[in-house]
Amino acid sequence: MNLIVTGGSRGIGAQCVLALAKSGHAIVINYARDASAAALLVSKVQAAGADAIAVQADVASEPQVVQLFAQADVFFSRLGRGPLNALINNAGIVAPKAMVADMSLERLRSVFDTNVLGAFLVAREAAKRMMRSRGGEGGSIVNVSSAAARLGSPAEYVDYAASKGAIDTMTLGLAKELAADGIRVNAVRPGLIETDIHASGGQPDRVARFKSVIPMGRGGQAKEVADAICWLLSDAASYCTGSLLDVAGGR
Ligand code: NAP
Repeated sequence: MNLIVTGGSRGIGAQCVLALAKSGHAIVINYARDASAAALLVSKVQAAGADAIAVQADVASEPQVVQLFAQADVFFSRLGRGPLNALINNAGIVAPKAMVADMSLERLRSVFDTNVLGAFLVAREAAKRMMRSRGGEGGSIVNVSSAAARLGSPAEYVDYAASKGAIDTMTLGLAKELAADGIRVNAVRPGLIETDIHASGGQPDRVARFKSVIPMGRGGQAKEVADAICWLLSDAASYCTGSLLDVAGGR
Protein backbone atom coordinates (compact mmCIF):
# COMPACT_ATOMS: atom_id res chain seq x y z
CA MET A 1 0.00 0.00 0.00
CA ASN A 2 0.97 3.62 -0.52
CA LEU A 3 -0.65 4.95 2.63
CA ILE A 4 -1.21 8.17 4.56
CA VAL A 5 -2.36 7.98 8.20
CA THR A 6 -3.44 11.33 9.63
CA GLY A 7 -2.85 11.57 13.36
CA GLY A 8 -0.68 8.50 12.88
CA SER A 9 1.91 9.18 15.56
CA ARG A 10 -0.06 8.19 18.68
CA GLY A 11 -3.13 6.26 19.82
CA ILE A 12 -5.34 4.50 17.26
CA GLY A 13 -3.42 5.91 14.27
CA ALA A 14 -0.09 4.65 15.62
CA GLN A 15 -1.54 1.15 16.14
CA CYS A 16 -2.70 1.17 12.51
CA VAL A 17 0.80 2.14 11.40
CA LEU A 18 2.37 -0.64 13.48
CA ALA A 19 -0.13 -3.21 12.14
CA LEU A 20 0.81 -2.25 8.56
CA ALA A 21 4.57 -1.99 9.19
CA LYS A 22 5.76 -4.73 6.90
CA SER A 23 7.73 -4.74 3.70
CA GLY A 24 5.71 -3.82 0.66
CA HIS A 25 4.06 -0.84 2.34
CA ALA A 26 5.10 2.81 2.24
CA ILE A 27 3.57 4.81 5.06
CA VAL A 28 3.31 8.56 5.60
CA ILE A 29 2.75 9.25 9.28
CA ASN A 30 1.12 12.62 9.82
CA TYR A 31 1.21 14.35 13.19
CA ALA A 32 0.44 17.82 14.58
CA ARG A 33 2.85 18.68 17.40
CA ASP A 34 4.74 15.74 18.88
CA ALA A 35 7.69 15.30 16.48
CA SER A 36 9.56 12.92 18.76
CA ALA A 37 6.64 10.44 18.99
CA ALA A 38 6.39 10.50 15.18
CA ALA A 39 10.16 10.02 14.73
CA LEU A 40 10.21 7.08 17.15
CA LEU A 41 7.37 5.42 15.24
CA VAL A 42 9.16 5.94 11.90
CA SER A 43 12.19 4.09 13.25
CA LYS A 44 10.00 1.19 14.46
CA VAL A 45 8.27 0.95 11.08
CA GLN A 46 11.56 0.98 9.21
CA ALA A 47 12.94 -1.72 11.52
CA ALA A 48 9.91 -3.85 10.60
CA GLY A 49 10.76 -3.52 6.90
CA ALA A 50 8.34 -0.89 5.60
CA ASP A 51 9.22 2.54 4.23
CA ALA A 52 8.01 5.46 6.31
CA ILE A 53 8.30 9.19 6.80
CA ALA A 54 6.76 11.55 9.33
CA VAL A 55 5.14 14.76 8.09
CA GLN A 56 3.94 17.54 10.38
CA ALA A 57 0.67 19.11 9.24
CA ASP A 58 -2.39 20.45 11.01
CA VAL A 59 -5.33 18.89 9.13
CA ALA A 60 -7.39 22.00 9.90
CA SER A 61 -5.05 24.07 7.69
CA GLU A 62 -5.67 23.78 3.94
CA PRO A 63 -2.10 24.78 2.94
CA GLN A 64 -0.65 22.27 5.40
CA VAL A 65 -2.91 19.45 4.10
CA VAL A 66 -1.92 20.28 0.51
CA GLN A 67 1.75 20.21 1.57
CA LEU A 68 1.27 16.86 3.41
CA PHE A 69 -0.05 15.24 0.24
CA ALA A 70 2.64 16.86 -1.93
CA GLN A 71 5.33 15.41 0.35
CA ALA A 72 3.64 12.02 0.17
CA ASP A 73 3.61 12.20 -3.66
CA VAL A 74 7.37 12.85 -3.67
CA PHE A 75 8.00 10.06 -1.13
CA PHE A 76 6.07 7.43 -3.14
CA SER A 77 7.64 8.58 -6.41
CA ARG A 78 11.23 8.46 -5.00
CA LEU A 79 10.56 4.85 -3.97
CA GLY A 80 9.46 4.10 -7.55
CA ARG A 81 5.94 3.40 -6.41
CA GLY A 82 2.57 4.33 -7.90
CA PRO A 83 0.26 6.99 -6.46
CA LEU A 84 -1.46 7.05 -3.10
CA ASN A 85 -3.93 4.16 -2.80
CA ALA A 86 -4.78 4.03 0.90
CA LEU A 87 -5.84 6.60 3.49
CA ILE A 88 -6.68 6.34 7.18
CA ASN A 89 -8.47 9.63 7.87
CA ASN A 90 -7.96 9.50 11.62
CA ALA A 91 -6.82 12.82 13.15
CA GLY A 92 -9.38 14.16 15.60
CA ILE A 93 -9.71 16.11 18.84
CA VAL A 94 -12.06 16.61 21.77
CA ALA A 95 -12.45 19.77 23.85
CA PRO A 96 -12.99 19.80 27.62
CA LYS A 97 -16.30 18.50 28.96
CA ALA A 98 -19.01 21.20 28.72
CA MET A 99 -22.73 21.78 28.23
CA VAL A 100 -23.73 23.17 24.83
CA ALA A 101 -25.06 26.19 26.73
CA ASP A 102 -21.48 27.02 27.69
CA MET A 103 -19.61 26.32 24.43
CA SER A 104 -17.73 29.26 22.94
CA LEU A 105 -17.61 29.91 19.22
CA GLU A 106 -13.83 29.49 19.40
CA ARG A 107 -14.21 25.96 20.81
CA LEU A 108 -16.87 25.01 18.25
CA ARG A 109 -14.67 26.31 15.44
CA SER A 110 -11.67 24.36 16.69
CA VAL A 111 -13.60 21.04 16.95
CA PHE A 112 -15.35 21.42 13.59
CA ASP A 113 -12.27 22.80 11.81
CA THR A 114 -10.21 19.76 12.83
CA ASN A 115 -12.77 16.96 12.88
CA VAL A 116 -14.99 17.96 9.94
CA LEU A 117 -13.19 20.41 7.64
CA GLY A 118 -9.86 18.68 8.28
CA ALA A 119 -11.31 15.26 7.42
CA PHE A 120 -12.93 16.72 4.28
CA LEU A 121 -9.70 18.39 3.12
CA VAL A 122 -7.79 15.15 3.65
CA ALA A 123 -10.47 13.10 1.84
CA ARG A 124 -10.47 15.62 -1.02
CA GLU A 125 -6.72 15.40 -1.57
CA ALA A 126 -6.85 11.60 -1.39
CA ALA A 127 -9.80 11.33 -3.79
CA LYS A 128 -8.06 13.52 -6.39
CA ARG A 129 -5.08 11.17 -6.41
CA MET A 130 -6.99 7.86 -6.29
CA MET A 131 -9.79 8.51 -8.84
CA ARG A 132 -9.29 6.40 -11.97
CA SER A 133 -11.08 9.07 -13.99
CA ARG A 134 -8.31 11.49 -12.96
CA GLY A 135 -5.35 9.18 -13.60
CA GLY A 136 -5.27 7.40 -10.24
CA GLU A 137 -5.34 3.69 -9.59
CA GLY A 138 -8.29 3.47 -7.16
CA GLY A 139 -7.85 2.77 -3.48
CA SER A 140 -9.39 2.51 -0.06
CA ILE A 141 -10.26 5.15 2.53
CA VAL A 142 -11.19 4.51 6.15
CA ASN A 143 -12.57 7.43 8.12
CA VAL A 144 -12.38 7.34 11.91
CA SER A 145 -15.75 8.39 13.29
CA SER A 146 -17.02 7.58 16.80
CA ALA A 147 -19.87 5.81 18.57
CA ALA A 148 -20.53 9.35 19.83
CA ALA A 149 -22.12 10.05 16.44
CA ARG A 150 -25.11 7.90 17.45
CA LEU A 151 -24.95 8.49 21.25
CA GLY A 152 -24.73 12.32 21.20
CA SER A 153 -22.34 12.67 24.19
CA PRO A 154 -24.70 14.80 26.33
CA ALA A 155 -23.14 17.01 29.03
CA GLU A 156 -19.69 16.12 27.72
CA TYR A 157 -19.16 17.09 24.10
CA VAL A 158 -22.16 17.24 21.82
CA ASP A 159 -19.96 19.26 19.44
CA TYR A 160 -17.55 16.34 19.06
CA ALA A 161 -20.45 13.88 18.61
CA ALA A 162 -21.97 16.09 15.91
CA SER A 163 -18.61 16.39 14.16
CA LYS A 164 -18.47 12.59 13.99
CA GLY A 165 -22.06 12.51 12.69
CA ALA A 166 -20.72 14.58 9.80
CA ILE A 167 -18.00 11.99 9.23
CA ASP A 168 -20.61 9.22 9.00
CA THR A 169 -22.58 11.20 6.42
CA MET A 170 -19.43 12.07 4.50
CA THR A 171 -18.56 8.36 4.43
CA LEU A 172 -21.96 7.39 3.01
CA GLY A 173 -21.90 10.06 0.31
CA LEU A 174 -18.27 9.70 -0.67
CA ALA A 175 -18.60 5.92 -0.92
CA LYS A 176 -21.36 6.35 -3.53
CA GLU A 177 -19.53 9.17 -5.29
CA LEU A 178 -16.27 7.26 -5.66
CA ALA A 179 -17.36 3.64 -6.16
CA ALA A 180 -17.18 3.82 -9.96
CA ASP A 181 -13.66 5.25 -9.63
CA GLY A 182 -12.45 2.10 -7.86
CA ILE A 183 -12.34 3.66 -4.40
CA ARG A 184 -13.97 2.13 -1.33
CA VAL A 185 -14.85 4.47 1.55
CA ASN A 186 -15.76 3.10 4.97
CA ALA A 187 -15.70 4.25 8.59
CA VAL A 188 -15.12 2.76 12.01
CA ARG A 189 -16.99 4.06 15.04
CA PRO A 190 -14.85 3.31 18.11
CA GLY A 191 -16.40 3.44 21.56
CA LEU A 192 -14.36 4.19 24.70
CA ILE A 193 -10.77 3.36 23.78
CA GLU A 194 -7.71 3.61 26.05
CA THR A 195 -5.72 6.45 24.47
CA ASP A 196 -4.45 9.89 25.51
CA ILE A 197 -7.40 11.67 23.87
CA HIS A 198 -9.36 11.58 27.13
CA ALA A 199 -6.55 13.26 29.06
CA SER A 200 -6.25 15.86 26.31
CA GLY A 201 -9.93 16.67 26.94
CA GLY A 202 -9.27 16.99 30.69
CA GLN A 203 -10.71 13.55 31.64
CA PRO A 204 -7.80 11.09 32.03
CA ASP A 205 -10.02 8.65 34.00
CA ARG A 206 -12.90 8.73 31.49
CA VAL A 207 -12.65 5.10 30.33
CA ALA A 208 -12.54 3.78 33.91
CA ARG A 209 -15.52 5.95 34.95
CA PHE A 210 -17.74 4.86 32.06
CA LYS A 211 -16.81 1.21 31.70
CA SER A 212 -19.91 0.02 33.62
CA VAL A 213 -22.12 1.27 30.74
CA ILE A 214 -20.22 -0.84 28.20
CA PRO A 215 -21.87 -4.27 27.76
CA MET A 216 -18.45 -5.94 27.52
CA GLY A 217 -17.49 -4.25 30.80
CA ARG A 218 -14.22 -2.72 29.66
CA GLY A 219 -12.72 -0.02 27.47
CA GLY A 220 -11.20 -1.03 24.16
CA GLN A 221 -7.54 -1.09 23.20
CA ALA A 222 -6.28 1.04 20.30
CA LYS A 223 -5.07 -2.15 18.61
CA GLU A 224 -8.61 -3.57 18.60
CA VAL A 225 -9.75 -0.53 16.61
CA ALA A 226 -6.68 -0.63 14.37
CA ASP A 227 -7.42 -4.25 13.45
CA ALA A 228 -10.91 -3.25 12.27
CA ILE A 229 -9.53 -0.28 10.33
CA CYS A 230 -6.87 -2.42 8.66
CA TRP A 231 -9.47 -4.99 7.65
CA LEU A 232 -11.72 -2.35 6.06
CA LEU A 233 -8.69 -0.83 4.34
CA SER A 234 -7.60 -4.18 2.88
CA ASP A 235 -8.79 -6.23 -0.09
CA ALA A 236 -10.34 -8.64 2.46
CA ALA A 237 -13.16 -6.06 2.64
CA SER A 238 -13.41 -5.81 -1.16
CA TYR A 239 -17.24 -5.65 -1.25
CA CYS A 240 -17.58 -3.18 1.65
CA THR A 241 -18.15 0.45 0.87
CA GLY A 242 -20.25 2.97 2.77
CA SER A 243 -20.05 0.71 5.84
CA LEU A 244 -19.99 2.17 9.36
CA LEU A 245 -18.36 -0.45 11.59
CA ASP A 246 -18.94 -0.09 15.35
CA VAL A 247 -15.96 -1.15 17.50
CA ALA A 248 -17.48 -0.28 20.84
CA GLY A 249 -17.82 -3.34 23.07
CA GLY A 250 -21.56 -3.57 22.38
CA ARG A 251 -22.42 0.02 23.34
P1 NAP B 1 -4.88 10.57 20.43
O1 NAP B 1 -4.33 9.41 21.20
O2 NAP B 1 -5.15 11.86 21.14
O3 NAP B 1 -3.92 10.83 19.16
C1 NAP B 1 -4.25 11.88 18.31
C2 NAP B 1 -3.35 11.87 17.09
O4 NAP B 1 -3.86 12.86 16.17
C3 NAP B 1 -1.92 12.25 17.39
O5 NAP B 1 -1.09 11.61 16.44
C4 NAP B 1 -1.94 13.76 17.15
O6 NAP B 1 -0.66 14.28 16.82
C5 NAP B 1 -2.86 13.84 15.96
N1 NAP B 1 -3.53 15.13 15.80
C6 NAP B 1 -4.26 15.83 16.70
N2 NAP B 1 -4.72 16.96 16.14
C7 NAP B 1 -4.28 16.98 14.86
C8 NAP B 1 -4.38 17.89 13.80
N3 NAP B 1 -5.07 19.03 13.91
N4 NAP B 1 -3.77 17.59 12.63
C9 NAP B 1 -3.05 16.44 12.49
N5 NAP B 1 -2.91 15.55 13.46
C10 NAP B 1 -3.51 15.81 14.63
O7 NAP B 1 -6.28 10.19 19.73
P2 NAP B 1 -7.00 8.76 19.48
O8 NAP B 1 -7.77 8.42 20.69
O9 NAP B 1 -6.04 7.80 18.89
O10 NAP B 1 -8.06 9.22 18.38
C11 NAP B 1 -7.87 8.98 17.00
C12 NAP B 1 -9.23 9.13 16.32
O11 NAP B 1 -10.15 8.20 16.92
C13 NAP B 1 -9.86 10.51 16.49
O12 NAP B 1 -10.51 10.87 15.29
C14 NAP B 1 -10.89 10.30 17.60
O13 NAP B 1 -11.95 11.21 17.52
C15 NAP B 1 -11.33 8.87 17.28
N6 NAP B 1 -11.96 8.20 18.42
C16 NAP B 1 -11.26 7.95 19.57
C17 NAP B 1 -11.90 7.32 20.62
C18 NAP B 1 -11.22 7.02 21.93
O14 NAP B 1 -11.92 6.66 22.90
N7 NAP B 1 -9.90 7.13 22.00
C19 NAP B 1 -13.25 6.94 20.50
C20 NAP B 1 -13.91 7.22 19.31
C21 NAP B 1 -13.26 7.84 18.28
P3 NAP B 1 0.25 15.04 17.96
O15 NAP B 1 0.56 14.04 19.03
O16 NAP B 1 1.46 15.49 17.20
O17 NAP B 1 -0.60 16.17 18.46
